[in-house]
Amino acid sequence: MSPIPFQFQIVATDGAARRGRIHTAHGVIDTPAFMPVGTAGTVKAMMPDAVAQTGAQIVLGNTYHLMLRPGAERVARLGGLHKFMNWPLPILTDSGGFQVMSLAKLRRIDERGVVFQSHIDGSSHELTPERSTEIQHLLDADITMCFDECTPFPVEEKAAAESMRLSMRWAERCRAAFKERPGYALFGIVQGSIYPDLRVESAEKLKSIGFDGYAIGGLAVGEGQETMLRMLDVTVPLLTENRPRYLMGVGKPDDLVSSVLRGIDMFDCVLPTRSGRTGQAFTRRGTVNLRNARHLDDPRPLDEMCSCPACRGFSRAYLHHLWRAEELLFHTLLTWHNLHYYQELMARLRQAITVGKLAEFVAGFREEQALGDIEPL
Ligand SMILES: [Zn+2]
Repeated sequence: MSPIPFQFQIVATDGAARRGRIHTAHGVIDTPAFMPVGTAGTVKAMMPDAVAQTGAQIVLGNTYHLMLRPGAERVARLGGLHKFMNWPLPILTDSGGFQVMSLAKLRRIDERGVVFQSHIDGSSHELTPERSTEIQHLLDADITMCFDECTPFPVEEKAAAESMRLSMRWAERCRAAFKERPGYALFGIVQGSIYPDLRVESAEKLKSIGFDGYAIGGLAVGEGQETMLRMLDVTVPLLTENRPRYLMGVGKPDDLVSSVLRGIDMFDCVLPTRSGRTGQAFTRRGTVNLRNARHLDDPRPLDEMCSCPACRGFSRAYLHHLWRAEELLFHTLLTWHNLHYYQELMARLRQAITVGKLAEFVAGFREEQALGDIEPL
């Protein structure tokens, strides 16, 4: 049997929104899709089969973290990231660019790439478009992301233009370095901060190079939802229609819904998994803060309509107790619930697109979110 080529099928549309299927070497991803973040080869506090049980069909791995620990060559020797982390389904890896600029101590950035010191042990490393692409190949990522410069925010237009053009030159080098294999893909990343002309230039440049999918980067960095959506309105219509579109690092449930309406197919965000550390749960009726003492005596589930293990088996009082007692199970239960909520939201969006009732679904979603949490007892 010959391997399945990387492919994106659009199954249904509703306005600008698309219901699709991405075929990769490790399986199919139904879109619009949310990708849980598995930074260091694990979605924190979750067993891989539990992640799959929430409905996730793909996870994201971080090149920066994995190259420093345990090292990309080691992962490759051990059979690749799928085997290493026991996640047989598709994996997308980021390029390392974002973390290098947000976590590491930068030593040099120039045309060639970035030299930085590890935040773990201070050791010196270099990331270039070629090395980032090689690392993602070693990890065996189904979807490789172009190495780009993470433009700071806020930024003047001139500096944003220089940064974006550097990323576009790097994108050409990633394209040249990428080893084509059936079922594997390389995505380009549109940059340009909050400047429409730069977003247009970047999208056109990437299209001329040609990628298997197109990501929109450099948003959800503090510009606010209105500006972010304005940038999508400028950028999305320019992207090749029959290629997946991925909005990086986004976001809150309403951001996902608003972006799907504009034709985005893929998302990743640490919000649902990071919440174990902040006590924040996402529900149909908005966010619930489980640190709040109002839950001390509350025997009701976090969300009575939710079928996740946290809601089926435990009370708000118990979850609140786990938080106060700093118990590890809190992280597992809250992560499970939040990922379940995000995946269910994506499934409902897909269903609404399929039957051509996205507008009604979105109206209902916003109404429910606006209700806020149930009244305290
Ligand atoms: Zn739940």
